[in-house]
Amino acid sequence: MATVLTGVNLLDGRNPAVPGRRVVIEGGRITEVGPDDPTAPAPAGATTVDLGGRTLMPGMATCHFHSTYDELGSTPLPYGSESPPAFMAMLSHANLMKALTWGYTTAVGAGAGQDVEPGVKLAIQKGLVPGPRFVPSGRELSTTAHSNDGVPWWWGMPTSGAVKLCDGPDEFRKGVREQVKKGAEIIKLFVTGGHGTTSPRARIEMTRDELAAAIDAAHEKGVLIRGHLANKTAIMWALELGIDIVDHCDEMDDEVIAALVETDASVVPSIWFPKVFAPFFPDNEAELAHMYEVLPKAEEAGVRILLGDDYGAVNFPHGSYGGELRTYVDDAGFDPLTVLRWATVNGADALGWGDELGTVEVGKKADLLVVDGDPSLDIGVLADTPPMAVLRSGVVVSGALPA
Ligand SMILES: [Zn+2]
Repeated sequence: MATVLTGVNLLDGRNPAVPGRRVVIEGGRITEVGPDDPTAPAPAGATTVDLGGRTLMPGMATCHFHSTYDELGSTPLPYGSESPPAFMAMLSHANLMKALTWGYTTAVGAGAGQDVEPGVKLAIQKGLVPGPRFVPSGRELSTTAHSNDGVPWWWGMPTSGAVKLCDGPDEFRKGVREQVKKGAEIIKLFVTGGHGTTSPRARIEMTRDELAAAIDAAHEKGVLIRGHLANKTAIMWALELGIDIVDHCDEMDDEVIAALVETDASVVPSIWFPKVFAPFFPDNEAELAHMYEVLPKAEEAGVRILLGDDYGAVNFPHGSYGGELRTYVDDAGFDPLTVLRWATVNGADALGWGDELGTVEVGKKADLLVVDGDPSLDIGVLADTPPMAVLRSGVVVSGALPA
């Protein structure tokens, strides 16, 4: 079954918008991109849909996603992942559907409760439930007494459902391998304090040996590995040792930028969370001012910047993803087109999926958004309203194409 989209304002992921285009989808892939010529032949039996000048763009990737973080999952204990596993799995899926509805056709785990994400991914993959493409994570690995190890010892509980404690390189190696056995495709480490944790940014809570063992073990098993990294010394260690994704990167400077470019690691700055909580944490303003200054330098140098943030915290619900698009444009001063490239091209490239996804080009999978308006001119048309239609492999999975 083929679909011919006419009257397309095309945002291909890399370039400025081009109006008057025609895009053909067949067998779940983009088979033609060209001028909107009414005399051009269409595949037999194709459905033609006139987008009427609306924008067609690649589906986006949210690359720091805690699918089980949610107030609903925070009972009876306040750690966010203490409900029964079956409940957590349904919560995870509900949040993934929110991401899909808002145009994120790919979601990348950044740590989750009760080991449920790999099972949720399997259910999506087998067609039991709809959902985005999903790179599932497992429990966050951190050391005993890390700020993320918040369960009082006298309760007699080992740790919260979203954390696995490891001490020493051997335990980190085993911790990573256990997560891989349970289906995690990306490993999350808590390396430093800072950025929303209860310990200071200057505190490094893993040794270099532990970090090296964890990164080695992940790569030995062919999975990605990421770290909560807010402190420069730890960021530089992690980059030297080969980490794939640096989360937060609060102390980014010229040296860190050079190391990011050299190692081809990705960064999720996640500046929307500290912005929302700035009224309660006065230090956030100075941290944000630093990021607004350094992020354009990182972009200029060619650092792969990704979207994603800590949705699911109290007062920072899943579904409020648009604030992130807005803050990069309105507060950090980026051109919307640049932020859209992070969301599309960079997301795909970070996962090694750049040949299949991330742009509207012939041969790629048809993960596409139809947006009423042009988000490269006004990010609000994508940030404040879900896309009119979200397609995964050419099939409408949220909203509807115009009649
Ligand atoms: Zn996080």
